Amino acid sequence: MFGHPEFDNHETVVFSRDREAGLTAIIAVHSTDLGPGFGGCRMWPYENEDLALRDVLRLSRGMTYKAAICELPYGGGKSVIIDDAKVAKTPAMLRAVGRLVEGLGGRYIIADDVGTSLADLAVMREVTKHTAAATAAAKEPLAVTAYGVWQALQAAVGAVLDRGDLAGLGVAVQGLGNVGLHLCRYLHEQGAQLTVCDVDPDRLAMARRQFSPIIVPPEEIYDREVDVFAPCAFGAILNDRTIPRLRARIICGGANNQLLAREHGGALAALGIVYVPDYLANAGGVIDFHMETIDDSAGAVLGAVERIGGITAETLTRARVEGETPLSIADRLVRRRLENARSTT
Ligand code: NAD
Repeated sequence: MFGHPEFDNHETVVFSRDREAGLTAIIAVHSTDLGPGFGGCRMWPYENEDLALRDVLRLSRGMTYKAAICELPYGGGKSVIIDDAKVAKTPAMLRAVGRLVEGLGGRYIIADDVGTSLADLAVMREVTKHTAAATAAAKEPLAVTAYGVWQALQAAVGAVLDRGDLAGLGVAVQGLGNVGLHLCRYLHEQGAQLTVCDVDPDRLAMARRQFSPIIVPPEEIYDREVDVFAPCAFGAILNDRTIPRLRARIICGGANNQLLAREHGGALAALGIVYVPDYLANAGGVIDFHMETIDDSAGAVLGAVERIGGITAETLTRARVEGETPLSIADRLVRRRLENARSTT
């Protein structure tokens, strides 16, 4: 475990098998330096345990970075249930997850993610109070992540292309799910020219009806001559195979862990492509959670998420002035905040 390539001094990793509840799960708490580790519960039929472990280690670390870059009082955590949400999920299983969360004594706050819903969190709440979406307004799904990506994207376009509007801007969106489709809506409303792909014909049909985008086969999205590439499907898509093909000036999307490895950030910079750190662009969900206890009306939440645009603008400006990549600047800021928190406790 301690030599695992994705292990980054995570504070706690819990492996659990509850035969009676039919549960096989891992919870990773990456850091509680800034506050309790917050993060979703992903239910996915991983091909093997190592893929699940990699995912939970990487995603929990990403949550630490999202909260820290936005100066929120949380750490990073994540949980994975290794099974197929469509067929295997039961209330007993969800309560078993809730008991695990309860056992961590508030060091991990669980939220919804791929394969789990707000209704699932309500079942977990029967056995633990350490869940998100506990307020009435939080149950109204808002497109917070897409809204945050949109804020980051506008800031990046301003900083890199020196443009104050998105009219006619070419944006390639990979994946038209919860994040990608809403992002398309925001971009379309501002007159951006959309090129999109998805593997799901229903999502493509929805996009076609709403935005009349250029639709390309999934593999062609990397080759498009556009201003911005917005990865919104899955991680590790920026790698040795795809980076040399990219024709975009900016990468800014909602997917987690877009870089296959850290050095791919350098490969993008060498090509003059500005990469907005994924954990900054897609931090809308953590801000949304934070607002649950402050003011979770739609206007207040979206207003708070707009902060992502300001942080993106500052990060890109500092990167230009200091001759570094935005990722190095953001990573360093996060590490400093974590160190400061550790040294004051
Ligand atoms: P989703 O499952 O709703 O959407 C993903 C979409 O990608 C689906 O429509 C799927 O058909 C499509 N897709 C799958 N394979 C593809 C391929 N090869 N090419 C193109 N499209 C493909 O997921 P989501 O909630 O929209 O999240 C998208 C990404 O953003 C994920 O990486 C997720 O971890 C990340 N993210 C999501 C949120 C959130 O609030 N939903 C928050 C932070 C990060």
